[in-house]
Amino acid sequence: MISKNRSALRGCYVTFRDNPFRVPAQSALVVEEDGLILMENGRITQCGPYAELAHLLQDDIPVTHYPNCIISAGLIDAHVHYPQLSAIASWGQQLLPWLEEYIFPTEARFADPAVARAAARIFMTELLRNGTTTAAVYCTVHRQSVDAFFEESQRVGTRMIAGKVLMDRNAPANLRDTAAQGYDDSLNLIRRWHGKGRQLYAVTPRFAITSTQEQLEQAGALLDQFPDVFMQTHLSENTDEIAEVARLFPDCTSYLDVYDKAGLVRRRSVFGHGIHLDEEALHRCHAAGSTLAHCPTSNLFLGSGFFPLAATQSPDRPVHVALATDIGAGTTLSMLGTMAEAYKVSLAAGKERLHPAQAFWLATAGAAQALDLEDRIGTIAPGMEADLCVLDPYATPLLAYRTARCDSIEAQLFPLMILGDDRCIRATWVAGHEVHRNHSLPISRDSLDGQ
Ligand SMILES: [Zn+2]
Repeated sequence: MISKNRSALRGCYVTFRDNPFRVPAQSALVVEEDGLILMENGRITQCGPYAELAHLLQDDIPVTHYPNCIISAGLIDAHVHYPQLSAIASWGQQLLPWLEEYIFPTEARFADPAVARAAARIFMTELLRNGTTTAAVYCTVHRQSVDAFFEESQRVGTRMIAGKVLMDRNAPANLRDTAAQGYDDSLNLIRRWHGKGRQLYAVTPRFAITSTQEQLEQAGALLDQFPDVFMQTHLSENTDEIAEVARLFPDCTSYLDVYDKAGLVRRRSVFGHGIHLDEEALHRCHAAGSTLAHCPTSNLFLGSGFFPLAATQSPDRPVHVALATDIGAGTTLSMLGTMAEAYKVSLAAGKERLHPAQAFWLATAGAAQALDLEDRIGTIAPGMEADLCVLDPYATPLLAYRTARCDSIEAQLFPLMILGDDRCIRATWVAGHEVHRNHSLPISRDSLDGQ
């Protein structure tokens, strides 16, 4: 009889033993060229060289072999709006008019639970097709949009962070709550979902423009009451937005100070963007252990600016950074595509070369550390939750042509992130179960020899 809860993957895998922003990439990265990953009841129990661990394979453990692939911990997207997926690629605006023209009308439709459930299903399918197994997700102002998303995540078994958007001003009437209603809805949703299965709640004020001081303070009160709950919001994305926040909060010394006065700057606080932060704000994020979610495709799409990644990693006050797509302003759900844009933005922002190991770190182990989940996700190691994605560096003719000229696995990572997308995700595993498989035929590596 086949054991339902035990399985194994064989193939090359990569993971991290250290932070490649602090130690040389080759010391931080672990590459196991012919590895075996044993999984049981949703967790990794053993991993290492196949030759050393093969004797642990009993007849009842099914082994899936991925030759010519690279297995990674499941990818993590630290900032994404599931209700905005249908508004991706909307033309011609910067942040504030883009919200009014495209996003608010799209989010208003989520008052209907059927709309929310259908969107959650499509969004989850797309995440898994892209190898993303954990995301920090904004729902809409409607509490049913949160139920729909977490129900979908429960069905699949993914570890997700999500929350109801709080918005009590400067938004259409059909998208506003009140400070009291937002508090009550969030409280009920925390009780219903936080810690249920693998689901985690984030108190989610959209940003300072759409919340009153009172609502931000209520959000802070929720975090005092539930200290292990997350907080997510937007910060210093666009210069018009920053000017409007300064106008609305004349008593605050900076945009970050608006959140700080409300008690929202803390560990497990995830600030989307943070492009235009001064030294004082970066120090404050460092001291609080807060995270900046770097969303390069979104920042390019809306013309918001270049995130100064290298500056955030200054050794005297490194700030947690995680990569993110920020759909629907982002232009792809692929974390590979997001790494490619992060590389380009890093060069443009400060002439800094983002190493491919650093890019993968920001979407796996580094993101898990930023989200305070490093004891559960983000690396391939015994005891970790068995969320994995199987990357195929031969997935497209051009990528295969380029990969065939790489002399090591490490060398394959850069063309994989620059040229890769959802076609490169051969399979996605969640809690030890395969939840996505790419059915297109692999390109034969033999056919590339001699070209
Ligand atoms: Zn966003």
